[in-house]
Amino acid sequence: MQAPHSTQLIDGFDRRITYLRLSITDRCDFRCQYCMAETMQFLPRSEVLTIEELLRTARLFTELGVKKIRVTGGEPLIRRGADELFKGLGALPTLDTLALTTNGSHLEKTATDLVEAGVTTINISLDSLQPERFREITRVGDFSTVLRGIDAAVAAGFQRIRLNTVVLDGLNRDEVIPLTQFAVDRHIDIAFIEEMPLGQVNVGGKTLAYVTSQSLHDELSRHFDLETLAAANDAGPSRDYKISGTHSRVGFISPHSHNFCSSCNRLRVSAEGRLLMCLGNEESIDLRSLLRSGASDEAVKTSIIDSLTLKPERHVFDQPDEPQIVRFMNATGG
Ligand code: SAM
Ligand code: SF4
Repeated sequence: MQAPHSTQLIDGFDRRITYLRLSITDRCDFRCQYCMAETMQFLPRSEVLTIEELLRTARLFTELGVKKIRVTGGEPLIRRGADELFKGLGALPTLDTLALTTNGSHLEKTATDLVEAGVTTINISLDSLQPERFREITRVGDFSTVLRGIDAAVAAGFQRIRLNTVVLDGLNRDEVIPLTQFAVDRHIDIAFIEEMPLGQVNVGGKTLAYVTSQSLHDELSRHFDLETLAAANDAGPSRDYKISGTHSRVGFISPHSHNFCSSCNRLRVSAEGRLLMCLGNEESIDLRSLLRSGASDEAVKTSIIDSLTLKPERHVFDQPDEPQIVRFMNATGG
């Protein structure tokens, strides 16, 4: 007799998948140095999942036990139909957390609607408080627009707001303390991310080096009193500390160490509908073809469950013998 087919997302290493990162566009209004090339070839619209396909995908994943969905991109808030998408996602009955990662450029106008739609958690990327440097890093971004977006988000009442800062030596390393103070002043959190070797990091012909989380932690500890927080079950890659005497937490995300692979609970769907098993690995299935083939919900869910045999034990950024990951971050959604 055949074993009954699982209805849960559990991979070959006994990890239960409860978290989906959904990239809703590969396009962006910024061109951050570490994420995109200056001129980018974006996907033709027909190759990007439609709002209906995104909503169906999200629903099927929640039916398979996913409790948290993070919408990302590219820049999700420039996607046409994003408002309708957030309303639909917010109405999914078994979803606990609806999260968004954004560059903040469109937050001033959308923050209140996002809260109303059910977005509870928002990550806003911010690499510099210096307008000129901000422009240099993003190539086109306007610091004051993003600042107004952050303030609108604070006023709108999300349950959690976290700034995401990619730190690079020679670029913004000197702003780690001011950026943390900026978060503390607004009662929001901040996470420092080691740059991952996915895009091009080359400013003015100079290749920039990532900064280890350990050295940032040491530097911050000299200025703030950091209390270790017990890792939450779904903590993911961020190691979080409370900043004593404040409402803020600081996190360190260290993709260069493999410390979070053993508890990885996530999958990613790229803008073109590839279901990706791991950020640092090319294993994927073509979910878009499946969705467009007329397959029933049950058939799609079975394919998703079966795809988990492809999920690797850990990612491989630091192993020189392994193939280089050449996807740009905007295509996979961070
Ligand atoms: N556009 C949105 C934003 O910037 O927040 C969402 C997509 S962006 C790809 C998601 C996150 O990935 C951002 O916080 C960004 O800083 C980070 N990111 C992009 N390229 C990266 C890289 N090479 N290494 C580490 N983080 C990166
Ligand atoms: Fe756009 Fe976000 Fe990539 Fe910057 S990090 S280019 S804002 S997708």
